[in-house]
Amino acid sequence: MAKLDPDSNISVLSGVSSKRAETLSDHNIDSVRDLLYYFPRRHLDRTTVTLIKDIVRGRSYSIIGQVETFGERPIRRGKIFQAIISDGTGLLMLTWFNGVRYVKRLFKIGDRLAVHGKIEWYKGFSILHPEFDKIDENDDPLSTGSVIPLYPLTNELRSAGIDQRFLRKIVRDVLNSIEHIPDIFTETFTKVYNIVSLNDALQQIHFAENIDRLKTAVHRLKFDEHFFLQLLMALRKNSLKQTATCPLSDIGPYFRNIADSLPFELTRAQKNVLKEIHEDMKKPVAMNRLLQGDVGSGKTIVAILSCVIAVGNNVQAAVMAPTEILANQHYRSFISELKKVKIPICLLTGKMKKSERRSILNGLEKGRIPVVIGTHALIQDDVKFKELGLVIVDEQHRFGVLQRGKLLDKGYNPHFMAMTATPIPRTLAITYLGDMDVSIIDELPADRTPVVTKIVEPIRMPKVFAFITDEIKAGRQCMVIYPLVEESEKNDLAAAVEAYQKLSKKVFADLNVGLVHGRMKTDEKNNIMKKFESNEINLLVSTTVIEVGVDIPNATVIVVEHAERFGLTQLHQLRGRVGRGSGKGYCILVHHNESDNSRLRLDIMERTNDGFHIADEDLKLRGPGDYFGMRQSGFIQYRIANMVTDGPIIREARKAAFDLVKEDRDLRHDQHTGIRKQFLHDYKDRLDMVKIS
Ligand code: ADP
Ligand code: MG
Repeated sequence: MAKLDPDSNISVLSGVSSKRAETLSDHNIDSVRDLLYYFPRRHLDRTTVTLIKDIVRGRSYSIIGQVETFGERPIRRGKIFQAIISDGTGLLMLTWFNGVRYVKRLFKIGDRLAVHGKIEWYKGFSILHPEFDKIDENDDPLSTGSVIPLYPLTNELRSAGIDQRFLRKIVRDVLNSIEHIPDIFTETFTKVYNIVSLNDALQQIHFAENIDRLKTAVHRLKFDEHFFLQLLMALRKNSLKQTATCPLSDIGPYFRNIADSLPFELTRAQKNVLKEIHEDMKKPVAMNRLLQGDVGSGKTIVAILSCVIAVGNNVQAAVMAPTEILANQHYRSFISELKKVKIPICLLTGKMKKSERRSILNGLEKGRIPVVIGTHALIQDDVKFKELGLVIVDEQHRFGVLQRGKLLDKGYNPHFMAMTATPIPRTLAITYLGDMDVSIIDELPADRTPVVTKIVEPIRMPKVFAFITDEIKAGRQCMVIYPLVEESEKNDLAAAVEAYQKLSKKVFADLNVGLVHGRMKTDEKNNIMKKFESNEINLLVSTTVIEVGVDIPNATVIVVEHAERFGLTQLHQLRGRVGRGSGKGYCILVHHNESDNSRLRLDIMERTNDGFHIADEDLKLRGPGDYFGMRQSGFIQYRIANMVTDGPIIREARKAAFDLVKEDRDLRHDQHTGIRKQFLHDYKDRLDMVKIS
């Protein structure tokens, strides 16, 4: 048989008509190699298929059975479609509520189906909208002992006659006609990292001899994906290190003055982090650092002291915050320290008078204003600096990468630091922010007592209200938070307003109750926040606009309504709003929806105050999308890798990639040709991030 070139077009394969080639191309399968990288979404073998007699409700299974009967059934609104399959040990119902017309054409009585899904109760044990595939009798893993691959299919593929059987046939043809797929790594490399050869991995991922060999194949292919992403990070870090910047070597006259005047001693963690930051700023290459610290760990003072180091070296510093409220608050924290050493500072937001704005812009351009705090307003084109040397971005995941770049472009490659109170799980940080150095404030100031968290059912609210009244009578302040999600914004807003009416007129008629929500005008909002800060308002009802950063040391109780609708990270942020002063803090999570999953999530909040632990749990439960808006931006589309569960592989792959770049920073060595080629192919759209010639 003639040898097949992996780069040939898919249409050279027998059975692939031009119509099918077109459909495959729509699924990004153009070459023979692409087909080999179209991995099964699931494998079935004796150990992964369950017998119907062994299933229990609430868990997910793969089951193989024969279609006994099926049909449509009218329900109150419309029709459902149901089928019953049997595997000799029992019967199982499959139910579809929609797509009935389509589904019913897909199989007939006697077909063998592999189905996958969660067993629920719908007029009996049933899988609702199962994932399913027709399989041949002779590759039923229960009778043959084989491992069968199930490929991801779409309606388009199916309509073009591309089903499991067809895919299996063409993949087998390819594997039979390619003698050996050359590896991108050297043999030494695969030994060191304990991975199987690429040839072996690609064979086994499709047609595994047994589950163990399948596992080593999956491991290898995951490794490859993480490796190339980490290679991007390593190359990017390297290219940043090659661009010069202005070294800020002096500690300057202001640092000590401020540090010595603080009413508290900096924690060990704060001191360490400041040392790391200053070490970076001394260098002639730009700092690119992520500062992580749980809520209340004291990042603000670290930011202030970093800025005064910059000013002490005669350059300007800019701090960007995601909301007006936060920018305002940073501004006040900065002012109270900077006035001690007479460093001028300004606030720049979108809501300023023209004349005021003009004079600030002028001051920045002439260099009269050394420190500026602002919102997005800072990245307008007309904002210019005399010499911008340090950029700090707070809660940077709320900004796009582009916006951060815009602020950096206003200086000559200034030093950069991002701060976040959203603890980012380690695997996520090195995956998405792998080009940054990370500093962590892993210690809270010693005077903090942990916030007490309690989950309550709505029926117990009168007790909660009584408790709040006591706290307020003792001079403390409280917040009641309502969820506000975009899809149902109107209803949510109505709920918050209604609650405010009830609390202010009935429950707490003799207290001062305020309302703040995202739809209010900025002035109005700021006005209410000011009153809350000065304790003219005792109880604040709010939608989640006060989520991050707001610092009211006198607030001791936070009540979160419909807590089940918030993510854990968000709840942790909210909880961080209280217990920031000397009073003991309480976080009350009102649980309305009794679904078992939400209760489990909330239990985690009761159990721990550790933000990193919570972030890990959140990542496991909800996936990475919520961290960086990456779901929308589609930054990374993994084929087989999984950032949540691949922790150890990610670390190995990172080490491999960084070691490689250390040794060969342009990937020019002969033995790296394969790696270079694949990198340029996989990341062709991102080569602007790295300098590689
Ligand atoms: P976050 O990291 O959440 O931004 P902040 O910087 O707002 O936290 O600090 C929270 C509070 O702790 C502030 O009131 C701040 O003045 C105070 N603080 C910061 N560092 C210390 C410290 N080392 N000891 C005691 N209090 C501190
Ligand atoms: Mg903060």
